Amino acid sequence: TEPKVRALVAGNWKMNGLRAGIAEAEAVGRALNETPAGADVMICPPATLLGPMVAALGDSTVHVGGQDCHVNVSGAFTGDVSAEMLADAGATAVIVGHSERRSLHGELDRDVRAKAEAAHRAGLSAIVCVGETAGERAAALTQTVVSRQLAGSLPDGARAANTVVAYEPVWAIGTGLTPTVEDVAKVHAAIRKALVARFGAEGQGMRILYGGSVKPQNARELMAVPDVNGALVGGASLKAADFLGIIAAY
Ligand code: PGA
Repeated sequence: TEPKVRALVAGNWKMNGLRAGIAEAEAVGRALNETPAGADVMICPPATLLGPMVAALGDSTVHVGGQDCHVNVSGAFTGDVSAEMLADAGATAVIVGHSERRSLHGELDRDVRAKAEAAHRAGLSAIVCVGETAGERAAALTQTVVSRQLAGSLPDGARAANTVVAYEPVWAIGTGLTPTVEDVAKVHAAIRKALVARFGAEGQGMRILYGGSVKPQNARELMAVPDVNGALVGGASLKAADFLGIIAAY
């Protein structure tokens, strides 16, 4: 049976958006003040924009999150940002293990797990990303890869309140391609099963987001899939109208 969880629509701006882009976030905040969403809404901007975005959003219901964090609290780690720093800037969550971090920065499951632990230590929710590459999919390794990533990337202390899983097939990210709803259903069901097996009732309540080319046009059919508890949205989160179109599906 499907958990009764409130959906989450999180926008991952990646390395896009200068200060001017905050107008888009403000527009989302204003729209949700007028018509509250049926889902929690979050925007994860570049770290430089966290403070300004929190200020711009004021008392709107939109949450703000980071895109990555270091595992340490502080220290000689030039260029890095700790989970505590994200929390201090007003973030309530951080994405960890995004495929771009895994592939471009060589992050392994154990690194992702340590970052999720750092997020929890700082009082942040960890949005833990998993997903197969095109090659892995072609080799029928989707379930194998996703279950290995889940097992290795989620900390033992993960709870429904502080952990979100995002299933993002790597080949669907930024490509306009999406798996069939049947394929999404299969993977999300397997993820739910693994979460419940490991975390019991907490695993039942954890949100499982789908990510990869989510658009206003396909959000409705994706959100209707069992165990899809929201979306992690890249490109379509950069324009308020598109992001609001996706949020309206929830
Ligand atoms: P996309 O990115 O929506 O642009 O495909 C999703 C993501 O990488 O989180």
